[in-house]
Amino acid sequence: TEACLTAIDGADALGAVVHKTPEIARERAAAADARLKAGDAPDLCGIPLGIKDLFCTEGVPAQAASRILEGFTPPYESTVTRQLREAGAVMLGKLNMDEFAMGSSNETSVYGDAVNPWRRGNDDAKLTPGGSSGGSAAAVAADLCLGATGTDTGGSIRQPAAFTGITGLKPTYGRCSRWGIIAFASSLDQAGPMAKDVRDCAIMLNAMAGHDPMDSTSAELAVPDFEAALTGDIKGKTIGIPREYRMDGMPEEIEALWAEGRKMLEDAGAKVVDISLPHTKYALPTYYVIAPAEASSNLARYDGVRYGRRAQLAQGDGVVEMYEKTRAEGFGAEVQRRVMVGTYVLSAGFYDAYYNRARKVRTLIKKDFEDAFADGVDAILTPATPSAAFGLGEMQSADPVQMYLNDVFTVTVNLAGLPGISVPAGQDRNGLPLGLQLIGRPWEEGDLLNTAYALE
Ligand code: GLN
Repeated sequence: TEACLTAIDGADALGAVVHKTPEIARERAAAADARLKAGDAPDLCGIPLGIKDLFCTEGVPAQAASRILEGFTPPYESTVTRQLREAGAVMLGKLNMDEFAMGSSNETSVYGDAVNPWRRGNDDAKLTPGGSSGGSAAAVAADLCLGATGTDTGGSIRQPAAFTGITGLKPTYGRCSRWGIIAFASSLDQAGPMAKDVRDCAIMLNAMAGHDPMDSTSAELAVPDFEAALTGDIKGKTIGIPREYRMDGMPEEIEALWAEGRKMLEDAGAKVVDISLPHTKYALPTYYVIAPAEASSNLARYDGVRYGRRAQLAQGDGVVEMYEKTRAEGFGAEVQRRVMVGTYVLSAGFYDAYYNRARKVRTLIKKDFEDAFADGVDAILTPATPSAAFGLGEMQSADPVQMYLNDVFTVTVNLAGLPGISVPAGQDRNGLPLGLQLIGRPWEEGDLLNTAYALE
């Protein structure tokens, strides 16, 4: 803990840690020491972790990297962070992210950018750590903490993990409780671990997972020992390679990485087969209807009364002016865009054409995966991202769809509620890390982690 606190103080330029909690860290480290002495040392006893700013932790500001939550200090603790704490983990501080987890580069944060500790060869240009869990990824990659919590609505754990050379797991929807995690798109949001390797992710997931009566979508399933699943034996497993993920204009090095991953799994004794997931091409548009729809509803609660910041009002302003001014100055541009898109697709005249249509396509996307699994596929291998980390500012084009294209390999997993993991697997021509994604059967995170383990 002391080593991490020192590293954090020396790494302000990374913008990874947005709220340091050294007193809490030292208090929990001391408690962990006492548990250790008493011979009661759970797996995470004394392990220092960073917590994404989307998680509410009691008595510590939680802003979801948004101006509108300035001054909000939750009086309660999210279930996931409570369980981590009970397993002995030490909280070092809150980590940077895109505002309300909307983004793929950490550039929509009110705290400013988080910076990738990696550089392109000898080039000094600062790169994005990815998003939305950019602070979590940067902090783990720079050894500011031993692991971090992330959340993944459309790729926000897996894409930043790939961009920073770490491992990140999005569990099956319902595996980890969403209670106390600031909501973005409730039918897609899922918390998960980000750490240096597969084993650390398995150990963290053991503590994070489990049924919670406070979240009606949390699954009433026993939590197996995910670490015990790491036997390294994947002989006889069937791995699918979905042809629809081979996109026009995909960089050669991503193709090569994918082929390399296929070979590693074959060498480990798996059978690799080509499969088809025919509705893949509709995934991004479907996601960018459903996620904003749910976000526009979830974000309606930020009214200047219940949480955080209220705008300065003028003489004579009424409640409507208070809402308007507070939301206009409290939400950043990307969040406002999502609220507008979401409100539009849910509006009476367009509900059937957009939202209902997207829900139907979502079912078809899910069915593609169900069919592949029914045909005997145990896991699916794809690239995690269409490129290595890009430069900060580089994707700030007038067209937000360019940024959305980052999620092309990851959003299907959230739409289908499946577990997905990104593992570091090689480098691009500039020495930047690249990630491979494995997608697993629902509730089979142990199996998925074990397959990923074979790629390490
Ligand atoms: N980049 C995607 C978005 O902006 C996914 C974000 C996430 O997974 N939280 O919506």
